[in-house]
Amino acid sequence: MQPDHISDIAIIGQGPVGLITALALAQKTQYSLTIFGPKPTSETNAQDTRTTAFMLPSLDMLQNLGLWEQLSAHSAPLSALRMIDDCGGLMRAPDCYFSANELGKDAFAQNIPNKNLNTTLIKEIQNHPNITWVDTKAVTLIERHKEGHCNHVKIQTQEGNAYTCHLLIGADGRGSPSRKASGIKTKQWSYDQSAIACSFTHELPHNATSIEFHRSSGPLTLIPLKEHHASLVWSLSPHKAQQVISLDETAFAEKLYDTTQAIWGPITSVDKRVCFPISGLKVDKFAANRIALVGEAAHVIPPIGAQGLNLGLRDSACLVHALSDQNTLNQDLTNFEQRYNQSRLLDVHNRTTAIDLLNKSLLMSFLPLKIMRTAGLNLLNANKTLRNQLMQQGLGSTNNLPPLMQAQ
Ligand SMILES: Cc1cc2nc3c(=O)[nH]c(=O)nc-3n(C[C@H](O)[C@H](O)[C@H](O)COP(=O)(O)OP(=O)(O)OC[C@H]3O[C@@H](n4cnc5c(N)ncnc54)[C@H](O)[C@@H]3O)c2cc1C
Repeated sequence: MQPDHISDIAIIGQGPVGLITALALAQKTQYSLTIFGPKPTSETNAQDTRTTAFMLPSLDMLQNLGLWEQLSAHSAPLSALRMIDDCGGLMRAPDCYFSANELGKDAFAQNIPNKNLNTTLIKEIQNHPNITWVDTKAVTLIERHKEGHCNHVKIQTQEGNAYTCHLLIGADGRGSPSRKASGIKTKQWSYDQSAIACSFTHELPHNATSIEFHRSSGPLTLIPLKEHHASLVWSLSPHKAQQVISLDETAFAEKLYDTTQAIWGPITSVDKRVCFPISGLKVDKFAANRIALVGEAAHVIPPIGAQGLNLGLRDSACLVHALSDQNTLNQDLTNFEQRYNQSRLLDVHNRTTAIDLLNKSLLMSFLPLKIMRTAGLNLLNANKTLRNQLMQQGLGSTNNLPPLMQAQ
């Protein structure tokens, strides 16, 4: 295979994490960049019915990259979160209410539909002079390769074209071929759940308050969008999710109205609904053998507490920071790989464990776990300091945020 194109960095995957990583690297480093993946169309874009609640550090990152101006037109603030125990049984936990005001903020996060997010990011990438986009159906071969003193990774696309790079960034989602090529050890598991994601309109105001119903089939979360719009993430067993998603719009609206205890009044319309399988994945390293992983290529968690993409953006900001000490990529990358690994392992491990435990505490009927959850929520309601600490944790606002996530 004769390589026909060489770039310093190749990014595989054009999901939100791959696109934001490409833009961040183009702005903050001098490396040549190529991104690989099928260029999204309006059809593929419409399939992503999710919205993303961007927490404050992620919003600072979007601001620092000059992306916020275009995105803000589509965003809605989340000023409070109410958790309602709807598991039934004797051990009902109290409602919990978290307000951004308690942290001296107007909002925790801004919620943006993924289709608007992706369209904006793609436009930015296409207009960027330093990013080359290889529009391929798929990268089919990734080969770690040593040639004399010079290290490369080889890439081949489904169309049969060959490329090389010094550093490969795997932003290719949960099935990541980059991860497989890297030799990084991976643990994967299933929750036997699917999440229905869609947007809808409702009659009563949502007051910028997100509602999370904790149900024994998993959480059901309502997340405010503009005016009387909101998005839904409804976790159910795969079988039940298929039944619910197959209902016609009126029947689905009624079911949602009943299940959410009429909290925002009658549901007047429901947009396209898509089911997402819920699973978990973690890796024992974030980079090895000239391949660095970001986003769902490195961690998959259930959609609770709006953490997944926010974690992915932290990967991206830490990766850019870890590269700042590197003069050239055409040399040993062990130092970069260690820095990047160190900056991500603990954060991702802690969050994966916490979300896994919270999800399991809903799904399992194991009484001691239910008692612990109820006691924990009682404690949270009574203790403002603990509540504030948890809110800071949820936002991902730690003292050692990478520079790209710090407010300028
Ligand atoms: C219902 C739901 C709601 C969510 N809500 C939130 C939220 O509010 N906040 C939040 O932070 N997170 C949320 N998440 C998580 C978030 O959506 C994911 O973390 C995020 O989409 C992952 O982005 P990614 O770019 O890493 O992966 P993906 O979006 O999966 O992108 C991977 C890309 O790689 C491409 N690819 C794969 N293989 C190849 C190949 N061989 N060659 C070329 N390209 C390839 C694919 O085409 C794809 O475009 C939610 C998740 C779900 C399921």
